[in-house]
Amino acid sequence: MDYNTETLNDIARQVAALMQTAVAKQAEGSQPAKIREVETMMREALRQIGAEALGQLLSSSAAPSAPTLACPCGGKLKYQRRRSAVVLSVFGRVSYERDYYAGCQCHSGQAPVDEQYGLQPGKVTAGLASLLGLAGIEFSFEQSGEWLKSCLIYDLLPVVHKIYLRSIILGRYIL
Ligand SMILES: [Zn+2]
Repeated sequence: MDYNTETLNDIARQVAALMQTAVAKQAEGSQPAKIREVETMMREALRQIGAEALGQLLSSSAAPSAPTLACPCGGKLKYQRRRSAVVLSVFGRVSYERDYYAGCQCHSGQAPVDEQYGLQPGKVTAGLASLLGLAGIEFSFEQSGEWLKSCLIYDLLPVVHKIYLRSIILGRYIL
């Protein structure tokens, strides 16, 4: 993927400044940070930036809302409102707001952004599901928790139900 180098450099400068402040703060305390701590702090900062950026991307619907949508049942879905949703991604919990349609005789609802990206609110994203599946192949469920924590930099267990997590890691959940 090609990104605008100037924009990337600008973001990098901002992250570097953020890290300089964090490193200086750490130096005031006990031990000055070594590269390992700097790497960990930077990964955590980038994870938080990723979660925020993904939420903003999913919340920014370019086109104005259409008043109605065709429902798969053959009926019509009417625009309701902007509705919030949460998914669990490789960056952690991501909240976003998107257009929501309902009011068809079949009682189903639809959010075009969810359809477009293949999102299921309240569930893990496809990117995170791949990592969980890999953990299931390589490790036992108990070991996979530690591996995932070091890989993702956040602990999944406080944010996702253990049975649900287990079913994805062990490959019994199909997205
Ligand atoms: Zn319908």
